[in-house]
Amino acid sequence: MDILEKLMRVYFISDERPHITVNKSICQSCSSKECLHVCPAQRYTLEAEGVQFIADGCLECGACRISCKSGAITWSYPRGGFGVRFRLG
Ligand code: SF4
Ligand code: SF4
Repeated sequence: MDILEKLMRVYFISDERPHITVNKSICQSCSSKECLHVCPAQRYTLEAEGVQFIADGCLECGACRISCKSGAITWSYPRGGFGVRFRLG
């Protein structure tokens, strides 16, 4: 089973209050943009208007929080009952 097939087994319960927020004004002066490369769910993308982030679909691995050296990311686990559900059976 490859990574895409595994990701197809994952589902999410979205919260209207994102568990991760990104200060995009800080991102404007970031040249390395590690977030684009470390997120296994590709939640960070580079668009014409700059780095974009969508919290829905986050696997809650924490890689973006660790990799961002600029402090642009505010990270917490989702509230109880929300977030990722792994189905590996
Ligand atoms: S690494 Fe951090 S500061 Fe740089 S673009 Fe990504 S979130 Fe923004
Ligand atoms: S916690 Fe992991 S899956 Fe979620 S946005 Fe950050 S890097 Fe991506």
